[in-house]
Amino acid sequence: PADVDYLRGLLRAFPDYPKKGIVFLDIFPLLRDPIAFETLITHFVHHITSHTIAQSPSKKIDVVVGLDARGFLLGPLIAMRLGAAFVPVRKKGKLPGETIHAEYEKEYGVDVFEMQADAITPGQNVVIIDDLVATGGSAKAAGELVAKLGGKTLEYLFIIELTFLKPSEKLDAPLYSIVKVD
Ligand code: 5GP
Repeated sequence: PADVDYLRGLLRAFPDYPKKGIVFLDIFPLLRDPIAFETLITHFVHHITSHTIAQSPSKKIDVVVGLDARGFLLGPLIAMRLGAAFVPVRKKGKLPGETIHAEYEKEYGVDVFEMQADAITPGQNVVIIDDLVATGGSAKAAGELVAKLGGKTLEYLFIIELTFLKPSEKLDAPLYSIVKVD
């Protein structure tokens, strides 16, 4: 579709960033172009309202969970359009009050994600969003936090999916991505 082609055309690849051998895909040109940014958010909202919520009896999303840090640039805009709550998943040590945590694999060792313990109530419908999914490790940890609080993850949403890393095999709900890279 035309909107996907437009968004894909604005992505930029940076070879050997942040280190040699890694090709980093930069999403910021999409946010820099107001029409592209609007198109991006509308694409996600349309997908959620026409497909994702069909899988739930209540036909609504209660919570949009965004991953630290680029998920914070997308999640709140989508949540506002849906009339849903926005909840951040943050790297360890950044959230006040009682928190729950989940570990995920990084290239070297493990990292820890946290969520505020009262952020989601049992039975709430949740979607989880980030800019890009690679191995799926960080998205999986976010899904574990949602499940610990009794939330139901209906879908994982990303601008970009590195399909050759098979991230969907790690996740407990469907994965939707706008641009697939293989
Ligand atoms: P995973 O946990 O799926 O292996 O890695 C996904 C996480 O790494 C996401 O938080 C994503 O923002 C970040 N990430 C990894 N590679 C890239 C990349 O090429 N571009 C961008 N924008 N983010 C990346």
